[in-house]
Amino acid sequence: YLFGRKKATEVAHVVWEQVIQKGDMVIDATCGNGNDTLAMLKMVTDDSDGCGGCVYAMDIQKDAIESTSCLLDQTLGSEEKERVKLFNMCHSKMEEIVPENSSVRMVAFNLGYLPGGNKSIITASNTTVLALKAAESVLMPGGLISLVVYIGHPGGREELEVVEAFGSSLPVSDWVCCKLQMLNRPLAPVLVFMFKREK
Ligand code: SAM
Repeated sequence: YLFGRKKATEVAHVVWEQVIQKGDMVIDATCGNGNDTLAMLKMVTDDSDGCGGCVYAMDIQKDAIESTSCLLDQTLGSEEKERVKLFNMCHSKMEEIVPENSSVRMVAFNLGYLPGGNKSIITASNTTVLALKAAESVLMPGGLISLVVYIGHPGGREELEVVEAFGSSLPVSDWVCCKLQMLNRPLAPVLVFMFKREK
């Protein structure tokens, strides 16, 4: 029941579950406090043996990396935690950390600022578009670029326009791009999904 969920991130997770398979490699491009990272790790993990894929999680803020690491320590065993790799870096450089010939099933962005953190450290349209280009280049066929875009803060709507322009420019032969926006909640975050078609 997709629309009964209060949070945009919860709706995004429902979509991720349809795409991510056990054993996959996925990227959290804005790990913040680690909630999405943890959700992704559960989706790539096979419950029967605890084995599975991996999550590459990055954030430009050291505090966010520490916060994610702390959440993972509290929630996961050491073997499971080893399958999350944390990077204190700008997501526009994600190609540098993805091993050659790897297949990335999903790159997820939760844009804006860290809840409870420094509101001046915020995703910016110019680096977001570079990160989208990088995500496009690392993503495997059958993969997903997922974005939660907040529009209530200064610069948020401009960032949404950049994201929409990027999605609109992807060739229809290879991509299915769509957005989910609440009509009766005009300031609610907008979800954008870019599905890369299977070859
Ligand atoms: N997904 C997170 C969670 O589950 O807690 C919340 C993410 S928060 C809305 C956005 C994050 O993006 C912040 O932690 C911020 O530091 C990070 N960020 C901002 N600019 C960035 C950049 N250029 N590269 C990587 N992360 C960035």
